[in-house]
Amino acid sequence: MAAAEPPPRLVLDLEKLAAVPSEKAGPLARYAATIQAQRGDYNGRVLSIRQDDLRTLAVIYDESPSVLTEQLIGWGVLNPEARRAVESIDR
Ligand code: C2E
Ligand code: C2E
Repeated sequence: MAAAEPPPRLVLDLEKLAAVPSEKAGPLARYAATIQAQRGDYNGRVLSIRQDDLRTLAVIYDESPSVLTEQLIGWGVLNPEARRAVESIDR
């Protein structure tokens, strides 16, 4: 059997995020902006985030990580491969 693969990246599409109505995207947009500021990284079209950050965002949105992941994929803001990353934290 092959060695275990690392979990896929969680990648936010910042251009798609900017197009989502702010009443839905607001908390995520502020969170992403904070990470950009902490990294000093303002130029990216995409932003890779930590698995822990998705867990934190699920608390903020009052959803399970898997439900929030589906919403974000539905908005086009999160890469669909993120589903596999979330399987490991949604317990
Ligand atoms: P920190 O967690 O103490 O990380 C210090 C530095 O270690 C980071 O500086 C970065 O150069 C490196 N580093 C830590 N984890 C990773 C990683 O998974 N991948 C890579 N490539 N480098 C890593 P940086 O980027 O200037 O970030 C400064 C601080 O901003 C971090 O201190 C952390 O407190 C916060 N931060 C940055 N990005 C994130 C994020 O995606 N999520 C969260 N929760 N905090 C972040
Ligand atoms: P990556 O840089 O390819 O890191 C992949 C995984 O390796 C991270 O997944 C984390 O589990 C581990 N890792 C890498 N560098 C460090 C480190 O300095 N300290 C610790 N404790 N673990 C580290 P994770 O946390 O899910 O992050 C996913 C991706 O998000 C990272 O991929 C990177 O692109 C971005 N990221 C996360 N935190 C930071 C950060 O503080 N600064 C920057 N610039 N990027 C970050």
